[in-house]
Amino acid sequence: MENKIKVNGLTFVPFITRSQIAEQVKRVAAEIRRDLADSQPVFICVLKGAFVFAADLIREIGINDCTCSFVRYASYEGTSTTGNVRQLVGLTDDLEGRDVVIIEDIVDTGLTAVKMISDIRAMNPRSVRFATLLHKPASSRTGFEPDYIAFTIEPKFILGYGLDLDGKGRNLHDIYVIEEGNN
Ligand code: 5GP
Repeated sequence: MENKIKVNGLTFVPFITRSQIAEQVKRVAAEIRRDLADSQPVFICVLKGAFVFAADLIREIGINDCTCSFVRYASYEGTSTTGNVRQLVGLTDDLEGRDVVIIEDIVDTGLTAVKMISDIRAMNPRSVRFATLLHKPASSRTGFEPDYIAFTIEPKFILGYGLDLDGKGRNLHDIYVIEEGNN
């Protein structure tokens, strides 16, 4: 694993390795497979941050009779939440009667997740489940609990494996955390 990296003048330190990620992706995939084995689920990847996690997770779940959709919200600028959750865009699929699994990169305040679930429920799916790579329960403003969580972490700013800082860092194999006291 590489050492410290700098992105837009901020220093990040290694936090979760690619092999730890792969291990937890396998675990979460097995949980989802167990719950939805007899279903034709639709996986909804929340762009942009969840694209790497979703790609690994969906393939690991291994349910062949599934479809994949991609939606987008934005609630983050720089390293602090704006508190505004914007509109859901890009969902053109018919979700009526489907078993939906939303795949998100990180749940912070939970505002995005709560809004997304309510928007998706309005489309009359049979069920809605929520999978996240990272969960920061200490920053929750909603009490929202994801159904599937790869890692529960402290409320610090994270980068890599799909997560960005102003568009950068999504390509990193590992997960990094902002360095304390040096930024
Ligand atoms: P929430 O609505 O739960 O506060 O925020 C969810 C969104 O905020 C995530 O989908 C992600 O885009 C962004 N976010 C929250 N925490 C972090 C973080 O530590 N790093 C990055 N890169 N984005 C974050």
